[in-house]
Amino acid sequence: MAAPAITGITHEALAAWLKEAGEPAFRGDQILEWVWKKKVQSFDAMTNLPAALRSRLADSFRLSALSHTQTQGSADTTRKFLFRLHDGRYVESVLIPANPALYGEQSDRRTLCVSSQVGCAYGCKFCASGLAGFTRNLDPSEIAGQVLAAEQLSGERVDNLVFMGMGEPLANLDHLLAAVTLITSSKTLHLGARHLTISTSGLVPQIRQLAEHPQQIRLAISLHGATDEVRQQIMPINRKWPVAELFAALDFWNSRKNQKLTLEYILIAGVNDALEQAAILARHARRLHSKVNLIPYNTVDGLDWKRPPDAHCRAFRDILKNAGVSATLRLEKGHDIDAACGQLRLKQETEEGIIAPAPGR
Ligand code: SAH
Ligand code: SF4
Repeated sequence: MAAPAITGITHEALAAWLKEAGEPAFRGDQILEWVWKKKVQSFDAMTNLPAALRSRLADSFRLSALSHTQTQGSADTTRKFLFRLHDGRYVESVLIPANPALYGEQSDRRTLCVSSQVGCAYGCKFCASGLAGFTRNLDPSEIAGQVLAAEQLSGERVDNLVFMGMGEPLANLDHLLAAVTLITSSKTLHLGARHLTISTSGLVPQIRQLAEHPQQIRLAISLHGATDEVRQQIMPINRKWPVAELFAALDFWNSRKNQKLTLEYILIAGVNDALEQAAILARHARRLHSKVNLIPYNTVDGLDWKRPPDAHCRAFRDILKNAGVSATLRLEKGHDIDAACGQLRLKQETEEGIIAPAPGR
């Protein structure tokens, strides 16, 4: 068993560990400051701690849950980081620079797209993360650690988090919420819950559970079909939680929260892009007072799906706009790695023979 990573240790847990070790409580603040704010690369660099405590920490904890193995992209574009985990698995995080088209009022902010699992069990037909099935949940240190690592690697502050990387965050809700506690603490990165968005393919019971959570975390729903007929062709979860049940859970969300929901809708040519779908989507979005994010499909190796022509994407958006719905559509190229999270990991694990080559669907 690898030693636990210190990025998974809360202030309270660290206080208990220090007490056990016979150390004064104020050391906890010092340690967390070294880890999260000064972002040191070794316990030895924690120079205001006694040497004995530094070596005790090094014996008991790893400093990081992730080792960085690759970066794609560059500082003025989207950067994708690939991390190796202690068991040889890989996850990726994507750092997205200012993007007014996608993030509206938060356009001057840097957003990190965070993974919550290795692989995904939900098997949406268009998605790279689901291609090789589910491997395991990430633990809180691995989820929170992505944010710290992205700040370390880029030298930039991350302002927004979207849990839209690999995996289904609501299927790993306990670890996710533990990571949120770590990330939002004033002793660590102190990110406001309002700057965190969880994206889900529609796990109804967990949406209801999250609606009762005291922190004002934002929610985005991967809808991708406005009717059961269309949605269940591409999202198997729709058989378990059909559109009507999903919308009932979103009504409940709205009754508990005052943050606008976001409905995400990938546009896939000939699959879910009929203009009638836009009209139905507009009715749902109006009733839910939600925004709609239209995302032209990003090609995935091994899958045949394609994005519709730009003009068709605009026509789809205009139906929403004309119905009074706030809808965004990103057509610019060069952001192709944004949404297609999971591909880098798939390639790496396939090359290393950890998983079999991706089957075509
Ligand atoms: N499991 C969660 C979060 C991870 S997926 C969910 O499904 O919401 C994050 C978003 O990326 C989802 O909206 C998903 O549908 C979308 N996505 C997956 N593959 C994509 C692709 N090839 N092109 C564009 N968006 C994609
Ligand atoms: Fe899983 Fe989300 Fe991909 Fe569906 S879209 S397979 S739920 S990661």
